[in-house]
Amino acid sequence: GRTLLFCIVHDVTARLKAEGELVTLAQIDMLTGLPNRRHFLENAERELSRTLRYGGGLSVLMMDIDHFKKVNDTYGHHAGDLVLQAVGRLFSEALRDADFVGRMGGEEFAVILPQTGAPAALEVAERLRHRIEMAKIPRPEGKPLQVTLSLGLTTLDGADSINIDTLISQADSALYEAKRNGRNRVCVFGDVVDGEMRVNPAGEMVDAVWRELPAHYQGVKIDWH
Ligand code: GH3
Ligand code: MG
Ligand code: MG
Repeated sequence: GRTLLFCIVHDVTARLKAEGELVTLAQIDMLTGLPNRRHFLENAERELSRTLRYGGGLSVLMMDIDHFKKVNDTYGHHAGDLVLQAVGRLFSEALRDADFVGRMGGEEFAVILPQTGAPAALEVAERLRHRIEMAKIPRPEGKPLQVTLSLGLTTLDGADSINIDTLISQADSALYEAKRNGRNRVCVFGDVVDGEMRVNPAGEMVDAVWRELPAHYQGVKIDWH
């Protein structure tokens, strides 16, 4: 409890200090040690104005854990908290230093990817999706847990009247499409084919792979149905 929390906060503080920023506890989400919503938005604003001034790409990712309520309902709120902490840690490990991840609230996270166009951002999104789905999140008791992630991606298209709220709501609607199309996938804002958002088939593919894993490699995969 207390010691773990201290370590997480300490870690993040050290990292941000190394980047020459002064960070206060008011900017950090206490459960995951990640920047909180307000701190994320401040950074996103800054990155957006930098991009609008100097050019380059800018992508925004919104991410939401699938069926997270089931984790709480089945394994308890504490297990849910462990999942949130593990997922937050995986994000930090998988992202580059320039990328900025935050906890937006509940089981929702966001990433700002400076100097990153659509193809590279899609690769990042796929990598995060895959990392989360493969992770076995340990618990003090019982088998480790596995969860999946839905992601919505948007990339600044050069319109200079755009603001961060617009980008986030674009990423949000792509995330909504990812949920609607079956979860555990990435959807890209504006990727519409015949009135339907184009989605990656990874969700189905990985489900097939998972079934083939020897039982002793498998964590508890929650049955949503
Ligand atoms: P979907 O796939 O559509 O996203 O379904 P979901 O169950 O993930 O989404 P829903 O919004 O129904 O449930 C989110 C749950 O997350 C409900 C809330 O109790 C839980 N939650 C939010 N914050 C925390 C937290 O800090 N700790 C824990 N353990 N649970 C949390
Ligand atoms: Mg969710
Ligand atoms: Mg949610």
